[in-house]
Amino acid sequence: MAAIQTNSGLPQTDQPRYHFDIYAILEAPQELYFGHETQVNVNMVETVKIATDDDVIEKCYISPTKRRGVERRSLIWAPLPSSGILLGDKLGCGIPHTCAQPDCPICAVYGGLITSTTEVDVLGKKESRKATTTIGRLVHGGGVAIQPIEASEKQRAMHPSAIHRDDSSITPMPFKRQYNEPALLYPVYNHCMSVTEQEFQAVAYAFLDSLARLGAGNPKGVHIIEKSLFNVQQPLLVVDCYLAPLGKRPVISPAITQIETAVADFVSAATWVHGQTIATTTSTIERDKRTVFTRWLGNDALVKLQEYATGFVTTVLI
Ligand SMILES: [Zn+2]
Repeated sequence: MAAIQTNSGLPQTDQPRYHFDIYAILEAPQELYFGHETQVNVNMVETVKIATDDDVIEKCYISPTKRRGVERRSLIWAPLPSSGILLGDKLGCGIPHTCAQPDCPICAVYGGLITSTTEVDVLGKKESRKATTTIGRLVHGGGVAIQPIEASEKQRAMHPSAIHRDDSSITPMPFKRQYNEPALLYPVYNHCMSVTEQEFQAVAYAFLDSLARLGAGNPKGVHIIEKSLFNVQQPLLVVDCYLAPLGKRPVISPAITQIETAVADFVSAATWVHGQTIATTTSTIERDKRTVFTRWLGNDALVKLQEYATGFVTTVLI
């Protein structure tokens, strides 16, 4: 009788594992382009259709897969200060070749795939890598804009790289491109399953580092919007670390089109933990002398993510 594999294949660690969540509302301070497809010489942005009670509306969208791609690149291109190279070059891990090794700080959480034995060149050394699959334990959600403002279309010109050539090929090529309008708000969510705090460091680093780089082409970049939370301007940001999911998830319904409603819903869910309305920016719940749920809000959540991001720099990059 053939033996059935029952283990997950994930190596045991000496550090405890938890689930982690990040919830945030992002704002683009300028128009944003994330290419989706080209139609009749127009580079389109991605939109989604949403059925409301009496209508179907179209909204701009930063799809979770696009955000995931920018985050992975932020790790692959992270600078190693002592050697002048980038993390992905040191690991031999990039796009499209992901190394898929369980000890790779990128693939361990973002996942990786080698479909057949592949020879790679890592810092001048040849290395053979076997077919490997590592399933990501980080998932991305949200991204549907709150305001139902349709994308704008602008005329652009692809300018030549030469000033003079003896032919006509340096004529600027006109094309049209859609943009998400400025000031759109995008609620986004990252969830990590059964990761160690050290593994989560890469997630925190990538989430914060990618904010300035979300978008394709230029301009790009977003920030976490700030609103009043416990009478103080704070980022609309929640970080959970837990064994038991005891908080309400501050997920905004895509059917909501009013900023005030969306912010109120976010704050209401963010301040609800296991039946209690919390009034502090850090809350923990214990059972049998073990912390089973911790929620950080606003500035506390930002500082917590920054601590994990700094941990990534000191343990992986330096
Ligand atoms: Zn890797």
